[in-house]
Amino acid sequence: MIHLLITSIFSFTMSTYNMPKLPYANDALEPVISQATINYHYGKHLQTYVNNLNALVPGTPFEGKAIEEIVATAPDGPLFNNAGQVLNHTLYFLQFTPTPKQNEPSGKLASAIARDFGNFENFKNEMTQAASSLFGSGWVWLAMDKDGKLVIVKEANGSNPIRKGMKPLLGFDVWEHAYYLDYQNRRVDHLANLWKIIDWQIVESRM
Ligand code: MN
Repeated sequence: MIHLLITSIFSFTMSTYNMPKLPYANDALEPVISQATINYHYGKHLQTYVNNLNALVPGTPFEGKAIEEIVATAPDGPLFNNAGQVLNHTLYFLQFTPTPKQNEPSGKLASAIARDFGNFENFKNEMTQAASSLFGSGWVWLAMDKDGKLVIVKEANGSNPIRKGMKPLLGFDVWEHAYYLDYQNRRVDHLANLWKIIDWQIVESRM
């Protein structure tokens, strides 16, 4: 499985894992994602996962390992759960921009979506349907399998397609903490708005 792992997106020294630096201000994604949600979701939830991971790794065989390797290979349990959520949220927060240069993919990502989903609208509908129908807490990902095919993958709780040997490209967090302050129970409205703030060049760069 190791040959499929993407280059680590984290800077880390020994067993210290860091918060990703947001490439936008905490209020810049409004009204799609409010400043209050960023303050809690990034500032509190993600910080807790990072703190937990840094407390759990020392003394395990995963000390000094890239986050992607931990998520791919750690046994089920608290270390895997917190590593998964650190990886998931880092990919999530870095995939957004308040000023998208394009409202749909271009280049090799656009070609692959057309090949594997028919067209961009079909892909959007399938991804939204998967995210709106996921029961409980989890994530929906656009991922690339080992043959280069794009697939939509549902993951429960804090897992990530990297555990199945796939590359995660675009992730929607459907834990209620991702949208409840702004949308309450209206997960579908939250999902519909997320498409407005995706940085498609970042997503393509993950292929
Ligand atoms: Mn979350």
